[in-house]
Amino acid sequence: MAAPLPRFRIYTRPKSYAQELLEWVTVRTHVGEAIQEFERAVAERIQMPHGLATPTARTGIYLAVRHLIKPGQKVILSPITISDVVNMVLCAGGIPVFADVKRETCNIDPDEIERLIDENTGAVLITHLHGLASDMDRIVEICRKKNIPLIEDCAQAFSSRYKGKPVGSFGAASVFSFGMYKNVNSFYGGMVLTRDAGMYESLRAERETWPFQDASLHIRKVLHAFATDISTHPLVFRSFTFWLFRYAFLNNIDRINKMVIVDQDPQAKEKIPTDYLCRMRPMQARICLSQLENVEKYNSMRIDRSKLYYEGLKDIPELILPPMHLDGSHLYTYYPIQYKDRHALAKHAMRHNRDFVLSHYHNCAALECFKKYFRSCPNADAVSKELIYLPSYPRYSVSEVEKNIKVIRAFFGK
Ligand SMILES: *Cc1c(COP(=O)(O)O)cnc(C)c1O
Repeated sequence: MAAPLPRFRIYTRPKSYAQELLEWVTVRTHVGEAIQEFERAVAERIQMPHGLATPTARTGIYLAVRHLIKPGQKVILSPITISDVVNMVLCAGGIPVFADVKRETCNIDPDEIERLIDENTGAVLITHLHGLASDMDRIVEICRKKNIPLIEDCAQAFSSRYKGKPVGSFGAASVFSFGMYKNVNSFYGGMVLTRDAGMYESLRAERETWPFQDASLHIRKVLHAFATDISTHPLVFRSFTFWLFRYAFLNNIDRINKMVIVDQDPQAKEKIPTDYLCRMRPMQARICLSQLENVEKYNSMRIDRSKLYYEGLKDIPELILPPMHLDGSHLYTYYPIQYKDRHALAKHAMRHNRDFVLSHYHNCAALECFKKYFRSCPNADAVSKELIYLPSYPRYSVSEVEKNIKVIRAFFGK
């Protein structure tokens, strides 16, 4: 088989780079009212009254948690997330309490939330992982009954809808990411949404005191995205990048394998780094605004690809597949499957020139740096060891999906 399309492509378009270049050269990155316009556009879409742009989703999580809890209170959250989300809870004065996930969805288990809430719980922070909406009927009911504010991490679920209602509109606050790997991205960006005018006003006043995001940091992010875009361009990927990563993967060359691992060296943070407290530039809001029109189209393309995976793999009992929902509640940023010996499957796929990625999520409940907060979460443990991402992004062709299915079926002797 010939070389494949890559495991992921970022959603940046040539237009975004052109705009960056133009606005830096003409010194306009900080000019205009686009931040307010972007905040209104997202808030309207998510059906929340107030949106506040932040430099990253994590800064939004920090602000929301800090506002909604009293220092020293517990925050119940999923252990399948990036370690910095846990850090934001710590920096906001919260005590992380890890609640185990469900195997199929990798999302927090509502029964665990209910079991873990006590008189010192300040908030529940849920993650809609892989664009799969959590069980909102149950979670909203639990939080309402116990009178605990709910915060939704929607970094991977922009425009997902649960029973027709936008994800991010169920709690006291919700957080979105517009970082480089997200489906609406300004290389670096985020937003916190709230229904509480007082919370919004106080966070906005605080944000006005912050500087713009550091220009050199921003430009480094753009160059990183550009290098990623070039190396995953089909021409470059098929003739060069794939063979490099294939060789490294099949021969266990860690230096190269590690290049694709995020969150490699998790460290606990108890004080918010000062560079997390900065403002998005109006230019970034302009870039995001121009991407909003494609969101629904790309969502439905990912759902179509996921349906093919589902139909092609559902008779393999060794695999755990995500639930297949066509109602817009599940957006499948990737098609996440789980298998006990994922390395064997990934090696088999690579040998047959298929490019998959193993998920690198830690089970944060078992990380050394958070050992003070350890809780046994067997499902999260299994997810962190078994999760594989099959590409579902819009530019990934249907014939590539079919080749992946064929190679996986062959691995299981089908
Ligand atoms: C990407 C991501 C974040 C962090 O977003 P940033 O904008 O990089 O801070 C948080 N939670 C989840 C689930 C994510 O996927």
